[in-house]
This record gives sequence, C-alpha cells and structure tokens, in this order.
Amino acid sequence: MESTSSQPPLHQVPISALSGIGSSTAAKLQRLGISTIQDLLLHLPLRYQDRTQITPINQLQHSAEVVIQGTIQSAHLTPGKRRSLIVKIKDDSGCSLQLRFFHFAAAQKQQFQSGRLMQCFGEVRRGQHGLELIHPEYEFINTSTASLSPSADMAALTPVYPATEGLTQKKIRQYCQQALKYLAQLKELLPDEAVLPPQLMPLSQAITVLHNPPPSTNISQLEQGSHPAQQRLCLEELLAHHLNLLKLRFTKRQFKSSPLPADTQYIPGFLSCLPFALTQAQQKVYDEIATDLAHHHPMLRLVQGDVGSGKTVVAALAALHAIANGQQAAIMAPTEILAEQHLENFSNWFTPLGISVCWLTGKMSTKERNTALEAIQSGQAQLVVGTHALFQEQVLFHQLALVIIDEQHRFGVHQRLALTQKGESNQYTPHQLIMTATPIPRTLAMSAYADLNCSVIDELPPGRTPVNTVAIPDTRRPMVIQRVQHAIQEGRQVYWVCTLIETSEAIESQAAEETAELLKEQLPGIRVGLIHGRMKANEKAAVMAAFKEGNLDLLAATTVIEVGVNVPNASLMIIENSERLGLAQLHQLRGRVGRGSVASHCVLLYHHPLSHQSRERLSIMRETNDGFLIAEKDLQLRGPGEVLGTRQTGVANLKIADILRDQALLPTVQHIAQLLLTHYPERVDTIIERWLDQEVINYARV
Ligand code: ADP
Ligand code: MG
Repeated sequence: MESTSSQPPLHQVPISALSGIGSSTAAKLQRLGISTIQDLLLHLPLRYQDRTQITPINQLQHSAEVVIQGTIQSAHLTPGKRRSLIVKIKDDSGCSLQLRFFHFAAAQKQQFQSGRLMQCFGEVRRGQHGLELIHPEYEFINTSTASLSPSADMAALTPVYPATEGLTQKKIRQYCQQALKYLAQLKELLPDEAVLPPQLMPLSQAITVLHNPPPSTNISQLEQGSHPAQQRLCLEELLAHHLNLLKLRFTKRQFKSSPLPADTQYIPGFLSCLPFALTQAQQKVYDEIATDLAHHHPMLRLVQGDVGSGKTVVAALAALHAIANGQQAAIMAPTEILAEQHLENFSNWFTPLGISVCWLTGKMSTKERNTALEAIQSGQAQLVVGTHALFQEQVLFHQLALVIIDEQHRFGVHQRLALTQKGESNQYTPHQLIMTATPIPRTLAMSAYADLNCSVIDELPPGRTPVNTVAIPDTRRPMVIQRVQHAIQEGRQVYWVCTLIETSEAIESQAAEETAELLKEQLPGIRVGLIHGRMKANEKAAVMAAFKEGNLDLLAATTVIEVGVNVPNASLMIIENSERLGLAQLHQLRGRVGRGSVASHCVLLYHHPLSHQSRERLSIMRETNDGFLIAEKDLQLRGPGEVLGTRQTGVANLKIADILRDQALLPTVQHIAQLLLTHYPERVDTIIERWLDQEVINYARV
C-alpha cells in the first residue's frame, strides 16, 4: 500500500515507460489516442479470434479464421519474379492445404522439413490450387505431445485491437500485456456505496478478462457486448459522458443572459389575433419557457413536438419576450423553404404589432443582403428569420437575446454554438430554444442532450385525424391514379411526392417536372402544380399560394414540402419510391396531410423487391402515426450516430458502450453521477478524462 501511494496515477505515466516504445512507436500509438498506460489498458479489443478449436482441413470454409494442425508434405519456392514460399500440409482428415509466404528468410524455408507437425492460425483464402492460408501465424509441435486441441500458446481467444498503419496486432498485444502489469495502480473511481447491477465485474478484473479472456469465456457474450467485464466498462464510459454533459450544462448555466420577463405590450394582442386557442400542451411548454427567460442565466431548452403539434406559435411567444424587452430574436431553419414559411407566418403575426421582421438566406442578391445585414446590425430588425446563413461571420447583431433553432436534428451542435456566440459580444449569452419535430427517444435525449432541458408538446391541436397509410407496389400505379382522380372529384387536394436516391436537387427537381407532365396526361382536366427546390422563392410562393387557395388540385413536389407546409384541405398524399426514405423523413412528409377534419390517406408506392429494412419501415408507417414510437423504431433500425446525424454529440464516440444495447445501465449511471457530484466531486474530472478524448472535452467546453 505504502509503495502505491508514491507512484503516479496511471493517466500520468506515459507509454514510453514501457519497454520497446520509442518516439516513433509513441507517435503511432498517439494516432490511436493512446499516450498513457491508462489509455493502453482501456484500448479494448474490437473482437476476438477463437483459437480454442482445431478445425479439420476438410471442414475449412472460405474466409474463416482457423487453427489447423497438420504434417508438412513439402516446401518449395515458386518460380518467377515475385517468389513465394509454399508449404503443403496434410492432416488426419486426409486433406491438404497450402501455406503461402511472400516475405520470408532463407532460414525459414529450412524449418519446414517434411514430416514435421505444425499448428497454424490464419484466414482461409481461395487460391489457384485450392484453399490457402496466407502468412499464417505458426508453430511446430512435438509429435509426442500432439493432441487434438491447440497448444497452450495458440489456445485462447486472441484479442484483435483497433490498429493503425505500422503497428501490428502482435505489437499492440505486447504493449497491452506490459500495461497489464501496472493494473494494480489503476484507481477504482466508483464510490463503494454505489449500487451496481450484481453481475458486473470489478474494474481490474474486467480489464484483465478483456485483454486476456480465458479459453472458457463465453464468446457469444463477448461478441454481443453483454459480458459482465464489458458491462462494467460500459457503465463507466456512459458515466463519463454523462458527467461531461452535466458539467457542460452547469458551466453554461453560469453565463449571464439578459432576463426577458413576460410582457404586456405584445403578447395579449398576439394571442387574441390567433384564430385558435393554445392547446394545453402548448400553454404548458410556453409557461416553462417564460419561466426560463425571466432568469439572468441562459435558457437552454429543447422543445420536442410531433409534426403539426404547433411549435411555431410557441416560438413566436418566446420571440415576443425578447422584442418586448428591446432586444433581438433570431430563428434559424434548416431549409430555404421552411425559412420562407416562417417568414410568412411571422410577418403575418408580427407586422400588425409594429414589429420589424427581416430575412437572411444564402440565395439573396448582394443588395438585399447588405440591406438585411445593416438592419440586423443597427437593431432595426427585431426578429431575424433565416437559414444557416445567419451564423456566418459577416452577420453582426445589435443585441441578440434569443436564438431559436427549428428542426435541430439537421444542424450540428457546432452550428448551434456558432449562432449563440453571435450574442456574446455584449457579454451576455443569448437564451436558446431548440425545436425538433423528430422526437428524440428518451434514452438519447438523456445522454446526448443532457445539457438541455426538455419540454414536450404532447398533444395535437383539436380536429386532426390520424392518417390512414397503405403500401402499394408501383405496378399498381394505374389504380392509384384512379384513386387520386376520385379524391379530387370529391373536392379534396392531393400531394404527389417524387423522391430519388440522388441527393442532387437538380435531378430530383427534374424528376418532379417529368412526373407533373405525366400526371397532367393521365389526369385530364385536373389542375396540376409543381414545386421543387430549384424554383425561385417567388415562384415557389406563388405555387404554394395557389394550392392553399384551392386553385390547384394536385401538387407534384419534391421533398421540399417535407417541412412546414400547411394545407388542411389536402387529404391524400402519394409518396413515390417510399422504400428509399428513412422513417423520420416519411413521417415528416406524411405530416402534411391529416391537418383538416376529413379522413386522410397516405399511399406509399414502392418498387419490388423490398429489402428487409425497407419492409420493416413501411410496416411501421402503416401501423402507427405516433412520432415518438416511430423515432424509437428509427433508432433501433439505424443506430444513434445516424439518427442524430452528428458526431459531436459524443454518442457516436463511444469506445465500448452502445446507447441502445446498454440502456438498462442508464438509471445506474444517473445514480452514480449524483453520488459523485454530491460526495466525490474531486473524482469527476478523473473519470471524464479517463474515457473522453481531450478534444471532445475541450469541444464541449467552448
Ligand atoms: P409544427 O409543430 O409541425 O411546426 P406548426 O407550428 O407548423 O407545427 O403548426 C401546424 C398548424 O397547426 C399551423 O397551421 C398552426 O397554425 C396550427 N396550430 C398551431 N397551434 C394550434 C392550436 N392550438 N389550435 C389549432 N391550430 C393550431
Ligand atoms: Mg415546424
């Protein structure tokens, strides 16, 4: 005990303390994020090779990794420029196999004397003359001790580590083995009184098992990540991320913001002009926002609400707080068309109140742009609506007190931060309101957004009807056309959405144009409109207005109508190539119908054959209209990295844990985090630094 207290902690012992690690190896290890002995101990295998069984040569399968045991028949060099050494071996099954070496020393050939017994490990490849092992690991076996199981050196689950150029698995294994000698110095950081799931292994045992799994280890548990050794480390890693986000939240909450108390100047007038009353859910969420805004510290609030739940009105109320207090609010939307919708809504609502609304996107002329920039800088623009153009360097705000970000999942965290920093010139941090229509499953919300408070608008405005969804193969298009005709004869309006795999707006727009032409031919007498991303803003606005007013029966569109568009009389939507779209996008699109009181329908046209995933997605869409349920399924199908679409959330950076697989650990994570913060605050940074790259930590602390 006395001796360990004088030894430095392992996160301070550089890897150069190990033998065989000079500056060039250290640099290579650095590329793997390894600079200390602790890093090496936590450099965990990606998978394991099962070397515990000998496979008879007659049972070898292409590309399997196997141990074989056989007697050498011959060894010879191939003729030609690129000489290789071929060793032929035969085993008790009576079959033979070639070993092929491209790099070899002359002395090596001498080793392979006919009649010697050897064991080899490698991946089975198909060569010109049957199956081969290329550059297998091998050793010679004493004939008298030969048995039917691999030799002690071979017999193990051999770890395969994340590697990098110039570092072989063998080297990395060696370094990890050396590091294990220091294991006794690795500190247990979880409090003794923490209540852990009973099956978890203690830290040092867990690390030993993962680097050196005994042959008896349950390999399928290891492969699934459910082994008690892995689970112990998953717990600590999730804890580290959680603590980091809690710290971040704490830090941000220390910043100063201008308090924006409720106002009597605009809000009553605004509410009385709305053609509806707020739903209870909207009122509840607005109250939460109003409370936040009254404080001297920044609001950091995420509002989740399904498509059509009425987030915009809530955002407008928040904006009025800033404006009434003589400051500016900005609302950022992910696409031009959604920004336009907001501009239209906010101008309609705010202009009568004498509030000046200004607009900034990437597609403006220089003159328009300069005028907008001036209005923003002078403070004359009270509400600024725009796309990501808002956080460019040239944009200077007079006094930005509130940042509203719509459809957060499309922006990276860094974009969110960039816009926030716009308001920091006056030493005040703007309040932040983030709105998302893709509900974030609770598991993710807790880990990826622990720095935000969450509000949920969990109720749709009255009078909405669930959309009835069917999936129909595109071979039955004529029937669908009839159905469209029928709906239009009944006085309804229809969206026909064209989607393509290509993300190119140009190609998608062209497809929409062609579809519009085709539909005009197939549906004589019907007024067909067209909208796509390549049209000018005023053209799009004119088409949307015509559709809203009922002067068009059918709107052929690209996915630009995914967000924001609201035409209650449109009650039928056809989505082409629906099998190619993700759940979130399908749900967004479908949210354009079901906005009036008549029964609405959505037809998912698909092309045979369906992949397993597509079939799954379409059936989920048929079964439910619930955005939360769809988001949960989406997460299961795609994984958290893709759902959040951003690496910086930290979720995608997990080394061993998996948010979905390990969700059962999350309550324990929260429990331990509370214990640590209350009783052992000095351990918090040590845990965070043990698991997170400095880069991620710094990043989160901007
Ligand atoms: P989203 O949450 O998808 O952004 P919007 O804010 O665009 O939804 O609202 C969808 C539609 O519902 C809009 O036409 C809006 O005017 C309307 N709406 C919002 N709140 C209410 C309400 N309380 N009662 C009736 N209609 C509402
Ligand atoms: Mg919206």
